[in-house]
Amino acid sequence: MQLDDTIVAIATPPGRGGIGVVRLAGRESRAIAEPMLRLKHALEAGGAVFGELIDPESGERIDEVVVTYFASPHSYTTDDIIEISAHGAPVVLGYMVEMAMAKGARLAEPGEFTMRAFLNGRIDLTQAEAVRDLIESQTLFQAKAAAQQLDGALSKRLKPIKEKLVQLIATLEAGVDFAEDDVEVLPSAQILERLGEIRTPLLHLAESFAYGKVVHEGMTLAIAGPPNVGKSSIFNRLVERDRAIVTATPGTTRDWVTETVSLGGIPLKLIDTAGIRTAVDEAEGMGIRKSYEALAEADLVLVVMEAGAVHEGEGWVEWLAGEPFAGERGELAKALEGRKRILVGNKVDLLPGARQSGRNGDEMPMLYTSAVTGEGIEELRERILSYICGEGGVESETGFLTNVRQHSLVREGLNGLEAARKAVEEKIPHEMLLMDLYSGLRPLDGITGQTTTEDVLHRIFSSFCIGK
Ligand code: GDP
Repeated sequence: MQLDDTIVAIATPPGRGGIGVVRLAGRESRAIAEPMLRLKHALEAGGAVFGELIDPESGERIDEVVVTYFASPHSYTTDDIIEISAHGAPVVLGYMVEMAMAKGARLAEPGEFTMRAFLNGRIDLTQAEAVRDLIESQTLFQAKAAAQQLDGALSKRLKPIKEKLVQLIATLEAGVDFAEDDVEVLPSAQILERLGEIRTPLLHLAESFAYGKVVHEGMTLAIAGPPNVGKSSIFNRLVERDRAIVTATPGTTRDWVTETVSLGGIPLKLIDTAGIRTAVDEAEGMGIRKSYEALAEADLVLVVMEAGAVHEGEGWVEWLAGEPFAGERGELAKALEGRKRILVGNKVDLLPGARQSGRNGDEMPMLYTSAVTGEGIEELRERILSYICGEGGVESETGFLTNVRQHSLVREGLNGLEAARKAVEEKIPHEMLLMDLYSGLRPLDGITGQTTTEDVLHRIFSSFCIGK
């Protein structure tokens, strides 16, 4: 990995805009940038200077620019950084990049500025990932979560856990050195106790991924149920826009419609499935197949039926009570087996008594709604949100796991600890026990990037945009 050359890239998105920024990082940034600039006064660290972008040959003016200079080590990458803000004209920005390359700069790879910040030790890997998450955030809530991680929230939560593990390793290492004296440095009971003190917070951290994943990736919610019960209408109520086709003829939502909404700052991808029933024609059959596929992908399913149907004993109540039932609903019931779901009794406006007389209330609470009057919709939103945040509400600690890489490393760490616990119980020599402890520590170091191979790094940073 090249760290001493000077890199250049357009840091603003492609296309035209009010402003476009070209960024240079490296020892030669100033020397490379200065010939194409005519500034009001000399560059000063941490300050912005107004000036002109010029053709170095003729001195002709090309644009008006503002140049910001960050002197090493107080910069994003810790190198000298020059940022030239010009008008956002692609030709002007492209010209600056070409001029910089002619003077010896190299075009930056995607994420290379952030990779340098990491390799130069200014940020750790979780913080680098947070930069990407922040840029990719779809809601303000996600941005805030990423900003906390950028501030080191995850690393801070991990640090005391790692320290305890390192201390345990150090104690046992010392013991191994004195093994000839036949003194046990640490009785097994104490080792187990200390292992427990490491394992518990690490387990909580692993569990935080359920929440972090939803915060980071959002969630998929499918709306399913028999035709004409008001699925599309509920969908529209939730997205508050006329996106899905609402019609009184059964089976017309042939395909599934999706829309992403922000619920409590979490992106929620809603899928309105076709009315699941026995298909009349081929097109409808396809729609129904797709509905089942959507159901299989969803994190949560809203099972909608008419509030009245429950009371008329159409089979749902029996099914909810565990009895099998036949036909198309049988297939739906099968598709819903084991799925997280919220049961919705819609069109409650047609059946004012439904709330009071709910027969199945205790088994699985049904939420009564009316897509026409809006009754129960807010409650439905809250129910979905409380599902997202889990029983314990919103993750109370900051610094949760947000991606699969972090999660699998924590799991690996836990595996190492588990192997160590077994080794203690089976009275296996401390040399061997230590190996398990190291295999628990290594993945934890990998989370912050202390022990990360070059190809893993490349995989992570190549998912960044150019100029970041
Ligand atoms: P879907 O086939 O399940 O998607 O059902 P639609 O959303 O297309 O609705 C079918 C019919 O029921 C339409 O005429 C809606 O206006 C009507 N409808 C939907 N929700 C309600 C409701 O809460 N109350 C009443 N009275 N009618 C509703």
